Amino acid sequence: MSLESPLETALSQLRSSIENLQLSESMWNTLSTPRRILEVAVPLRRDNSIVEMYKGYRVQYSTTRGPSKGGIRFHPDIDLNETVALAMLMTWKCALVHLPYGGAKGGVAVDPLKLSVRENERLTRRYTSEILPIIGPERDIPAPDVGTDEKNMAWMMDTYSVNAGFSVPGVVTGKPIVLGGSLGRTSATGDGIAIAVREALRVKGIGLDGATVAIQGFGKVGYWSAVALEAMGMKIVAISDVSGGIKDFGSLADLHQHIEVGGSLSNYGIGDLITNAELLSLDVDVLIPAALADSINQENASKVLAKVVVEGANGPTTPEGDRILAEKGVLVIPDILANSGGVIVSYFEWVQDKQNYSWSADEVKENLETMLMRAINEVKDLVASKEVSWREAAMMLGVGRVAEAHKLRGLYP
Ligand code: NAD
Repeated sequence: MSLESPLETALSQLRSSIENLQLSESMWNTLSTPRRILEVAVPLRRDNSIVEMYKGYRVQYSTTRGPSKGGIRFHPDIDLNETVALAMLMTWKCALVHLPYGGAKGGVAVDPLKLSVRENERLTRRYTSEILPIIGPERDIPAPDVGTDEKNMAWMMDTYSVNAGFSVPGVVTGKPIVLGGSLGRTSATGDGIAIAVREALRVKGIGLDGATVAIQGFGKVGYWSAVALEAMGMKIVAISDVSGGIKDFGSLADLHQHIEVGGSLSNYGIGDLITNAELLSLDVDVLIPAALADSINQENASKVLAKVVVEGANGPTTPEGDRILAEKGVLVIPDILANSGGVIVSYFEWVQDKQNYSWSADEVKENLETMLMRAINEVKDLVASKEVSWREAAMMLGVGRVAEAHKLRGLYP
């Protein structure tokens, strides 16, 4: 049996939401269609002088509630359908957490691990230049995602600014602090996930102290989630990346240091090596998929033993996987709620850039907690009143707000 594609998953979640909210077929037509798609060819002169061509995308799924917002992914497997799915999720996520944004996503089908730093810079700048006419602080604001980080954002900001003739920090978020980045942005997605885990364990009546956690993905989201969860007293028992996983590895800081200096999980030397499949079926309190889409699906969902799944990645559970987890009584905190800390603090960064005024780390942290807890409590209330899952409730709130904005704005002409 083949797996649902990320776009099929996203459309199926939207369809149930439209039904739950009893919205019209016209609203389904409106909400299931991306507003603007740009596909570009990105030429790159490699360090050996050979010119290669890569496909790049920017999808502005919705601009109904404000400028579109969403990350830039550098990954060899991305395609237009996946980018549309991710841009759709961003739309519901921004609405769910009350940000004045629509949703977008972009990327280049390239493996950044195979590029030198200079090649990565040339590719980032050329891609930025290709999508330049449709981005901007009032139009569409990119951020880092899989395979990109603050250095890519610095190059994007510079390319846009050089073309504008003046400095435009608000064109991207996730920038280095000295270029108008925000304190707390690097750890924001992980900090938000830890808050979501804390609330999910509260619902399940499981104490935080010593609660066990397995995390798939040891990138920006996986690592910072682990740091925040440890700070809350939980125990990270296993972690994995694209090469496989490791269990009982001892100190998280030491493992991270080993990776930072070019090591890998497989040559760390402490702990037991496991596969990604084994990690997903560990007997832990919390499982956090924080890598790519579709990792929990009809083939492996029945093996999940965790009591709570908190989705760090976007779209990590297929609809069939979701159904199996629900049958098993696993509480799933959906991506659009669980990983929204990143876009919330991106929003703070954009606000600070607009104000030309930086907030303290404490201000960022307090405002993140307030905005995320507001959404978590709204979802929890809807779960109780409508007897729906956390995903259905989160989607109903996000989709419902975008639908309401469409109704109020009306249809031009
Ligand atoms: P990243 O590139 O920093 O890290 C990705 C990690 O996943 C790496 O450790 C990589 O080795 C691992 N990985 C890749 N393929 C894998 C596989 N097949 N099996 C196991 N591990 C695999 O990316 P990131 O920014 O941490 O993003 C991870 C997920 O979180 C993505 O779905 C992204 O869209 C989502 N997300 C990111 C942010 C953010 O602020 N960066 C915010 C919200 C959601």
